[in-house]
Amino acid sequence: MTPEDFRRHGHRLIDWIADYRESLAERPAIAQTAPGDIKAALPTAPPQEGEDFAAVFRDLERVILPGLTHWQHPSFFGFFPANADLASVLGDYLSTGLGVLGLSWQASPALTELEEVVVDWMRQLVGLSAAWSGVIADTASTSTLVALLCARERTTGYSLNAGGLQAEERPLLVYTSDQSHSSVEKAALLAGFGRANVRSIPHDRAYALRPAELEAAIDRDVRAGGRPCAIVATSGTTTCTAFDPLEPLAAIARQRGLWLHVDAAMAGAAMMLPECRGLWHGIEGADSLVFNAHKWPGVAFDCSLYYLRDPQHLIRVMSTNPSYLQSTADGSVKNLRDWGIPLGRRFRALKLWCLLRAEGVKNLQARLRRDLANARWLAEQVAAAPNWRVVAPVPLQTVCVRHEPPGLQAESLDRHTLAWVERLNRSGAAYLTPALLDGRWLVRVSIGVESTEREHVAALWQQMRREAERGE
Ligand SMILES: *Cc1c(COP(=O)(O)O)cnc(C)c1O
Repeated sequence: MTPEDFRRHGHRLIDWIADYRESLAERPAIAQTAPGDIKAALPTAPPQEGEDFAAVFRDLERVILPGLTHWQHPSFFGFFPANADLASVLGDYLSTGLGVLGLSWQASPALTELEEVVVDWMRQLVGLSAAWSGVIADTASTSTLVALLCARERTTGYSLNAGGLQAEERPLLVYTSDQSHSSVEKAALLAGFGRANVRSIPHDRAYALRPAELEAAIDRDVRAGGRPCAIVATSGTTTCTAFDPLEPLAAIARQRGLWLHVDAAMAGAAMMLPECRGLWHGIEGADSLVFNAHKWPGVAFDCSLYYLRDPQHLIRVMSTNPSYLQSTADGSVKNLRDWGIPLGRRFRALKLWCLLRAEGVKNLQARLRRDLANARWLAEQVAAAPNWRVVAPVPLQTVCVRHEPPGLQAESLDRHTLAWVERLNRSGAAYLTPALLDGRWLVRVSIGVESTEREHVAALWQQMRREAERGE
């Protein structure tokens, strides 16, 4: 495509996206397609001859749009908010349009240095001390894997330079709560710890990890000849945004020489509000943490922030230095390839930069406060309604609820819960995702899409009552 064609189609594409965003509220929140519908509408082989780009637009309308669940829809209350603020979308286009790669500082100095600047802006925004440095990763899953690789290498004194984990005599252990995200176990498995060496520690009444249980588990493992290596704590669990108590966990990690990694993928953003920072009190005692700028804050996916206290250790674990990547500037610059797994690096900092510049800190904070107030309002409505229950504390923007009509328990209650949420989702009025907590299904209402206002939450509450109380 020539720059002139790009100009023409690009203008149309921007208009198309702007129209899409403006029309979201009129669309069903979730895709109304059956499995295989989309594939059946597409050719099975690629076109031999180039087509007019207008044909792509036609298929966008005809095939792609009907197959979308609209994450930017004001009545999207599923999973977690993954806002793609349009300012960050422009930053993402820029990154793609420039088409530069950050293999080294010299490969595009602005790519590295803007990333250093905006990652440090975000550090300040969430109230972390200057002892932390960070880097942009694709996802929290990757950051947690990197953290566990660092933990493994610190405990073994760089086993990767010799026989690796295979040469270790005692098994290394990882501790996490039974509420932690599936990416934690996956990272532990991929880092070579093995499922048998991942300890799942029970939670308390607020769904936070119990430090006393953790200590008891560590003691048992040491007596049995194991080698405790890392604790992965969660600030804001996936099901109900519970916060593990970081101060006692940091004390245990320090006393026993364990790596403490904090998964704050969703809730880290809340720390942009000083009034929320008590929730991760003790964070300065951690070795590493991750939070996703691509969730609540509004950077278009993907933009995950990984912070750590000892970058030299990370660099030692990750660095490779082949001749073709070396340059005379290496002594005085950061080469971000040594800060994670991939060599190639997109210019992701642009979309974070564009968001921060277009919105400003004050607007971002005001939006998060609006969402917290909406969650508190919904929790109050639910708590006051007969036969409805708020099932877990609501520290942030996720409200876990259940409709518990008399006479329904256990499996029959689960069937009722799953049935009403399915009816509501199918109606297209909103999108909610159910989850298991303590073995029982509940419905999570995750508030925080950029366009979600109180009126959308109020309409959702009406819908929930209509679907759940049907036939009561
Ligand atoms: C969303 C989330 C993750 C996974 O994030 P990815 O960036 O998709 O890997 C992990 N942990 C928690 C607590 C999350 O909320």
